[in-house]
Amino acid sequence: MTKLWNTHMHTSFSGDSDAPMQDMIEQSITDNMCGITLTDHLDIDYYHNPGRFDLDIDEYRKCYDSLTVNGRYDNDTSSIDVLWGIELGLQPHLSEKHEEIISSYNFDYVIGSSHQVDKMDPYYPAYWDKYGVKGGVRRYFTSIIENIEAYNNFDAYGHLDYVIRYNDDAQKLTYGDYKDIINEILHLLITNEKALEINTGAYKFGLHEPNPCIQTIKDYRKMGGKLITIGSDAHKPSQVNIGYNRLSKLLKECGFDSYYVYKNRRPFECML
Ligand SMILES: [Zn+2]
Ligand SMILES: [Zn+2]
Repeated sequence: MTKLWNTHMHTSFSGDSDAPMQDMIEQSITDNMCGITLTDHLDIDYYHNPGRFDLDIDEYRKCYDSLTVNGRYDNDTSSIDVLWGIELGLQPHLSEKHEEIISSYNFDYVIGSSHQVDKMDPYYPAYWDKYGVKGGVRRYFTSIIENIEAYNNFDAYGHLDYVIRYNDDAQKLTYGDYKDIINEILHLLITNEKALEINTGAYKFGLHEPNPCIQTIKDYRKMGGKLITIGSDAHKPSQVNIGYNRLSKLLKECGFDSYYVYKNRRPFECML
């Protein structure tokens, strides 16, 4: 099996992980990853639980520097490339704060993600109570357009249809119910030269497709999209390789023969 990179991974610096950075790296060696990118959460103004996803970026960097030399981690018998990134929880009003942060640190890779819409996280029922199932899914996608239009200094959009993970009824909608708005987002990503992230974390929630779904990945390819990134969104060691055994085949079936890894914010092509 081709060794693949894993460019979406959390450690104890994220408010929802208690996995030591070294454990995540060691597990990535065990799981035969080609290399990894750490992408701890920064969600400023996380209204549901204020401060939970604030990130101490300096401490996060210090820990990374203590474990790696020139982007490489070594133990007695093995080594692996480890890059340093961040997952930014986008909201339109945060553009200026985000720019200040992103321009102050040497991140290799920046994922832009939607975790909150209109001050709510679709992980919690309040969001669905307000918008209903169809309305909630659609509002999530229109807010992605608002996010990209407000701020685009990121490299890839993370788990594009994440909203579906948390609502069983939303999983029963068909692709046709929101294909128009998804295609609008894909078009925006392509014209802004942003990558589409293929996130295999969905499999840990029992879903049978990554985020975004296979039809979205195919549409992106058909529309001329080439830049894809891959990651498992692991929050603990046992999740590092989730979905990885099927990823290469799945992406080839969607029309890709390569994916990209960002280093110093520049994309490098890797074969599937
Ligand atoms: Zn995320
Ligand atoms: Zn994540």
